[in-house]
Amino acid sequence: MSTNSRSHDASALSLDLLLRNLPGAVYRCLNDSHWTMEFLSAGVEKLTGYPAAAFFGEHPIAYASLIHPDDRAQVLTDTNQAVREGRPFQLSYRIITASGKLRWAWEQGSAVVDQDGNVSLEGFIADISALRRADLLAREQASLLDKAHDAIFVMDMHARITYWNKGAERLYGWEERQVLGQRMSDLLCDNHAAFSEALRTAIEEGEWAGELQQHRRDGTTIHADSRWTVVAGDPDTGVQQKILVISTDISERKINEERIHKLAYFDALTELPNRASLLDHLRRALLGSARSRKFGALMFLDLDNFKILNDTHGHAAGDMLLQAVARRLEHSVREADMVARLGGDEFVILVQPEEEMLEAAAHQAETVAAKVVAAMNAPFQLADFMYAVSTSVGVTMISGATDTVESALKQADTAMYQAKAAGRNTFRFFDPDMQAKWTARSELETGLRRALRNHEFILYYQPQLDGDSRVIGAEALLRWRQPNGELLYPTDFIKAAEETSLIVDIGRWVLGTACAELASWQGNPVTRHLSLSVNVSARQFVEPDFVPMTQEILAATGVDPHYLKFELTETLVVTDFAHTVETMETLRRLGITFSLDDFGTGYSSLAYLRKLPLDQLKIDYSFMRDVLTDRNDASIVRSIIALGDSLGLQVIAEGVETAGQRDFLSEAGCFVYQGYLYEPALSGERFTEYAASLH
Ligand code: C2E
Ligand code: MG
Ligand code: MG
Repeated sequence: MSTNSRSHDASALSLDLLLRNLPGAVYRCLNDSHWTMEFLSAGVEKLTGYPAAAFFGEHPIAYASLIHPDDRAQVLTDTNQAVREGRPFQLSYRIITASGKLRWAWEQGSAVVDQDGNVSLEGFIADISALRRADLLAREQASLLDKAHDAIFVMDMHARITYWNKGAERLYGWEERQVLGQRMSDLLCDNHAAFSEALRTAIEEGEWAGELQQHRRDGTTIHADSRWTVVAGDPDTGVQQKILVISTDISERKINEERIHKLAYFDALTELPNRASLLDHLRRALLGSARSRKFGALMFLDLDNFKILNDTHGHAAGDMLLQAVARRLEHSVREADMVARLGGDEFVILVQPEEEMLEAAAHQAETVAAKVVAAMNAPFQLADFMYAVSTSVGVTMISGATDTVESALKQADTAMYQAKAAGRNTFRFFDPDMQAKWTARSELETGLRRALRNHEFILYYQPQLDGDSRVIGAEALLRWRQPNGELLYPTDFIKAAEETSLIVDIGRWVLGTACAELASWQGNPVTRHLSLSVNVSARQFVEPDFVPMTQEILAATGVDPHYLKFELTETLVVTDFAHTVETMETLRRLGITFSLDDFGTGYSSLAYLRKLPLDQLKIDYSFMRDVLTDRNDASIVRSIIALGDSLGLQVIAEGVETAGQRDFLSEAGCFVYQGYLYEPALSGERFTEYAASLH
């Protein structure tokens, strides 16, 4: 026998053995209401608990009677219908076993007709109880997932959604049928980079948890805490690797958190950060400063007459004032700095440590404090009346290297009481040195204002001579005659004047006075050929009305502008080159000439020097002192002279004190001099006498 023919011969199988091992029963029965058995294999015992023999004999069990009464009618109907239509049938129903338990049976069969036309049924019955249980469990789990409050969905490794529970429907507003096959990233995510990062982490590490900003179907934002778990695939069954996503909506929690944060860190009345928030920021500022070694400042503010308002106009008015004060304070500080309310009428300003030099930080703090004190001086509109307050400010410098939160607060508080003691409506530094410096500065400022009002300034004129010792002009130099008769020199007060912009008013006075003097020279044959140089500070030159102001003075005094020279310094060039050049050209068209003062000490660059419409370079007097002994100074002076020559500019040397210096200069090619060798700065009267004496 060949192998082939042997494998086709079913009769060669041990049919009996096969039937006994089958996970179910093979049967043949009559198509009656009992399903009277004609053949039934041994497997039926496993399913029903009755041996096959029990279905035969004198008192056979009717198989149909084992079918659960609720299922029986349906089973018979389905079978009969299939038989009538001549097709196989498939049934599943419950069996009540010998021990009274329920089992699930699955049956497949068909009708067979014998030679006599009798119909019987043949088929196979299997016990599918285990499968049913698994199925039920799966359904139950699925319905549990649907009942879950969380949004649960599954996506494949390309982020395409393959499962979507009811919670996801509730959270995102999309129904399952709308989302299946769509990518999570396209459908829900706002930040694609964050999504990709999460996906990468999940793939690499098997899971990812975090907060992804997502949106609902209607576009509104959701904050969701998500946990992604990669579920391994099974190559045997073809089940692919997937990602199970469970997302909890935390939008509400976020809102609550923010509300709680606001309550905890902000003052409800003014909406300014409160004490807790201040302490937090101060601690961080000190930590930062310890690393960066930069200085900042802490200021304590207390309204001077707040209690009176509360007592006379009631608390509502008091609240209104506090709110208005808060807004004004916020406007008085930079974005980075912090205004907090400690309670009552106490406020604090934290100036972030951003200055490397204590001096610069103190200067900045002083500016802020002065601004705040001034800002509080304008009256406040409260409901239907105006109310004037003032504030006392205590300032302490802070540095992470030396201060703690407690020490800084205590110092600022102490300084605030000093400000109160000093008469209120002012500020005080905690550090006495700093306070002394500031007091001196503020006295100087007050003095300067008074000087302007009381005509305490005077102009002196220092002669400028040519190589033949003829006077060709003068430089106007400012002096301050104090009420006690003492004469102050510009080095003592010009810097302060520049920092407070008082220099603008002073400069206007200087120009007016100088032009009046020049006008009188021009009416005198002895002095009519002389030019007058006037120092113009950068701060003054960039004033928008500098040109019209100059024109006004020229018109009022009637001077010939060709004899007027402005001395500018290099700081101007650094400030705003284009604007400087433009203003210079406008003034030059009027006839005014220009000298670059203190040349050699600044950021001289040939590139800008060439472009400036200058007439004269003025060698700074610092080079003159050692020009005969110091080879460096000598060569700098020679270079400046050569440079002026090559640019076609006149070169003048100031600070010429000796004939030796003058000889050096003339040998090097400089023929205009100013200095003590000739005369110091003289009063107007003395200068005219001097000019006449040389005439
Ligand atoms: P500057 O414009 O360089 O003025 C020259 C300074 O050198 C003047 O000092 C002058 O008195 C001084 N000086 C003159 N001859 C000699 C000398 O032989 N040896 C030495 N060692 N010094 C000499 P002053 O008058 O104290 O002025 C100082 C600075 O103040 C001026 O320097 C100028 O930058 C500024 N300044 C003076 N008047 C005014 C003004 O009206 N407006 C502005 N914005 N600044 C002015
Ligand atoms: Mg000068
Ligand atoms: Mg100078």
